[in-house]
Amino acid sequence: MTQTDSLYDFDLLLLDAIALTADALQPEIRDCAIGIKDGRITWRDTKPPEKYTAARTLRLPGHFITPGFVNTHTHSVLSMVRGVAADLGFAPSYTPGIPKGTQVTPPQARALARLGALEALLFGSTVLGDHFVHADVTTQAMAELGLRLCPSWRIHDVDFSKVAQGQWQHATAIGQSTLEAALQLHERWAAHPRVQVNLAAHAVDTCSNDFLKEIAEISRVKDLVVSTHLGQSRTEVDRVLERTGRTSTEVLEDAGLLNQRLMGGHCIYLTSSDIAKMANAGAHAVHIPKCNASSGRLAPTHLLKAAGVNIALATDTQHGDMVELMRWALMTARVQEGGVNDNWQPRHVFHMATLGGARALGMHNNIGSIEVGKAADLVVFDGNRPHLRPHVNPLGNLVHTGQGRDVRMVMVDGYILVEHGLPTQVDMDSVCAEAETVARELWGHEGRHYWR
Ligand SMILES: [Zn+2]
Repeated sequence: MTQTDSLYDFDLLLLDAIALTADALQPEIRDCAIGIKDGRITWRDTKPPEKYTAARTLRLPGHFITPGFVNTHTHSVLSMVRGVAADLGFAPSYTPGIPKGTQVTPPQARALARLGALEALLFGSTVLGDHFVHADVTTQAMAELGLRLCPSWRIHDVDFSKVAQGQWQHATAIGQSTLEAALQLHERWAAHPRVQVNLAAHAVDTCSNDFLKEIAEISRVKDLVVSTHLGQSRTEVDRVLERTGRTSTEVLEDAGLLNQRLMGGHCIYLTSSDIAKMANAGAHAVHIPKCNASSGRLAPTHLLKAAGVNIALATDTQHGDMVELMRWALMTARVQEGGVNDNWQPRHVFHMATLGGARALGMHNNIGSIEVGKAADLVVFDGNRPHLRPHVNPLGNLVHTGQGRDVRMVMVDGYILVEHGLPTQVDMDSVCAEAETVARELWGHEGRHYWR
């Protein structure tokens, strides 16, 4: 039998939409037909097969269907500092006077992680590379939303309670306890189909050289992706230079961490030699343009891209809208390049937000584009809204005028997690209310009562 003679049996058939596939072979399909069976894409064409059955058919004229966005670097618990941290000029963990991870209890972490993850999901992120404290609790909390997760325990051997006061005190016991927790997390979730536990070596200034070597060896033996903050701040760079006489990238290389399993978050303070090293090693840059710009900084992403470094995108501690983030990535790169050229077009930032992220996480064979055989991680945007019309170039519309708030449906492995813009697995109002209560408790401890 030829393919067209076969009888196709779909759980879900999506018809009449505009598919933006992130597949270079066929990036846009008008009046598309996408068939899903057992959580996977089994049909992608301009029309359905001649013979098929479908348990459910959705006609979506004027809607855009994209792959789920791969949000490679988040700390969902830090939804607690929303509205404040972005105006303090530095990463929350280094900033005095605001709640810290070390103060958050497991129940508080659960409530805050659910809010952060729910927001990202509603805006079309289907994967979160989330790392912070209490990852055992937060992984469970976020998994309940149905998301695909790459969680990590925050690994460091510095005493984090003193870092905001400018003291970096390393202790073997702290390192061993965070590493042990990270490995337990990996063991506990090893069999889960939608959870891939990574290692998160927090940063070079918060991990000693010997500790980084230990993490590198575990990553190599267990083949685990390592996420880190790399060249995030002058403070980090100065501290690392003072301690080692090297750049953060050089220390990672010395430790055996600069390789295809490494995802460097931020990548702001990199020398041209660091960039060449990243490109040669096949390490991935996680670009966090909005967070960087909020603190008055830009990563040299145009140079990283020109050097051939794979770039992924992430929202980090700020709101989880990957659509808006694509715009930030595109605009900041054009400012750096001093104009519009073919290096930075909507298709490039769309790739970073989907396949580029999937590749950084080692998941590009399974997710990141709409292709037959891949997981049905899909997002449906309401492209009929006035700001997304006319449909001359739908991807241009999405990147330049779209918002996460245009998302109507999100699915992961074919499970519909967002429908009509609302979550199907949790009650949105109670998630918001619980996080509100917890934020009040934590900010109350800081003596900063924003609610007065
Ligand atoms: Zn971060």
